[in-house]
Amino acid sequence: MPSSLDAFARDKTARLSEAALLRQLRNQRRPSATTVERDGRTLVSFSCNDMLGLAHHPKVVAAAAEALSSEGTGAGASRLVTGSSSIVTALEQALATFRGTDRALVFGSGSLTNLGVIPAFAGAKDLVVLDERAHSSLFSGARLSQARVEVFAHNDVGELCAILARLRSSYRHVIVAVEGVYSMDGDLAPLPSLVEACEAADAWLLVDDAHALGTLGGGRGTAAHFGIAPDRIAFYVATLSKALGSYGGVVGCSEAVYTFLTSRARTLVYTTGLPPASAAAALAALDVVQQDRTRRERPLLLAKRFAKALGLPAPEAHLVPLIVGEATDALAAQAALEALGYLVTAIRPPTVADGTARLRVSFSAEHRDADVDGLAAGWRHVQAQLRSPRSLAS
Ligand SMILES: *Cc1c(COP(=O)(O)O)cnc(C)c1O
Repeated sequence: MPSSLDAFARDKTARLSEAALLRQLRNQRRPSATTVERDGRTLVSFSCNDMLGLAHHPKVVAAAAEALSSEGTGAGASRLVTGSSSIVTALEQALATFRGTDRALVFGSGSLTNLGVIPAFAGAKDLVVLDERAHSSLFSGARLSQARVEVFAHNDVGELCAILARLRSSYRHVIVAVEGVYSMDGDLAPLPSLVEACEAADAWLLVDDAHALGTLGGGRGTAAHFGIAPDRIAFYVATLSKALGSYGGVVGCSEAVYTFLTSRARTLVYTTGLPPASAAAALAALDVVQQDRTRRERPLLLAKRFAKALGLPAPEAHLVPLIVGEATDALAAQAALEALGYLVTAIRPPTVADGTARLRVSFSAEHRDADVDGLAAGWRHVQAQLRSPRSLAS
C-alpha cells in the first residue's frame, strides 16, 4: 500500500472537514416514501427525490417483483449484446409516447445519459454552453466531449445569446444544456426563450427534466408545461429514479439521433443494461403517473402551502430552498431539525455556490398536511436559533 496515497487522501479529507464540507454515508432504511430510520429513530424525510411516493407503490413493487422472478436480478450484458430486455423496449415506447418525443433511449441512470449524449454529438470542434447551475453530470459530459465549454449566468438568456453571437460562427456544432426544473433552487428554465435562442443560432438544446417528469405539465414535464412541442428540444433527458421511483435515465429524441446514440453513446455501449426489474418498476410507475392526477399535483401544492406558512415566494415546483449561507450553519440547521424529527439534508458547496449552503426541502405526494405544517413550525424555531449562533453551537 503506497503510504503517499493515504497521506494525500487524509490531507485532502482534513481540509474538507475544516471547511465543514466532508460528506459521509449514513446507515439507514427508507420504509416508506416519507420516512427514514437512522440510529433507531424514525424521521419524516423531506430529502427524498421519489416525490410521488412510487418506489413503495403496490403496483410498482408488484411489477418489479414479477420481472425479478421471470428475468432475474441483472441484465447480464450490455444492451447491445444480450442485455436489452423487451421490458426496456416497452418502457422506451411508453416514455416516448407520454413525453411526445419520436423515440426514447434508456440508459443506466440520468447521469450516465448526460455523460453519453453530449460526447456523442460534440467534439473538439464544437461548443457546449451550460447554465451555471446545470447538474454536475452535464458539466462532466461537456468536459468529456473535449468541446469548448462556456457558461452563462443562471437563466440569463441574454447572456446565452451574447455567447452564441460571439462564438457560434467559430464552431461546427453547439449544444446548449439546461435543466427544466433546477434541482437545488426549484425554479424553472425560461424554456420558450431558450428554444428560440437555440433555433436562431442553430444550436442543439438539451433539457434535463429530472425533477419535472411526473409532476409538471400533466407529468410530461416542462415542455408540456410551457406548451412547447418536444421535437424542438434536441435531447430531452430525464431520470427514472425520481418521480418514477426506480433507477435509470432516458433521452427523448428524433429517430436519427436515437439510431446514432445506440451505436456511439459510450455509456450505453460499454455498460451493462438496466436491470429488467428496474425497467418494469419504471413502466408501472409511468402508468400510475398518467392515471393519478392528484398524486402528480400534490407535491407542488404542499410546496406552496409550506412557502405560504413561512412568507416565502410562491414556488414553481415541488422544491423549496432554505438558504442558510455557510456550510457550518447548514449542518447545524440540519441537526436542529433532526432533533425535532425531520430529515432535511444540508446542501453544501460544490453542489451549490459558496456562501449559499442550504436546506433543500423536497415535497412528496405522500406527505400529510400536518408533516408540512410541522416542518414549517420547526424551521421557524431553527431560524430563530440560527440568528443567535451561540445557542445553536451548544
Ligand atoms: C438527479 C439528477 C440527475 C441524475 O439522475 P440519476 O438518475 O440519479 O443519475 C441528473 N440531472 C439532474 C438535473 C438531476 O436532478
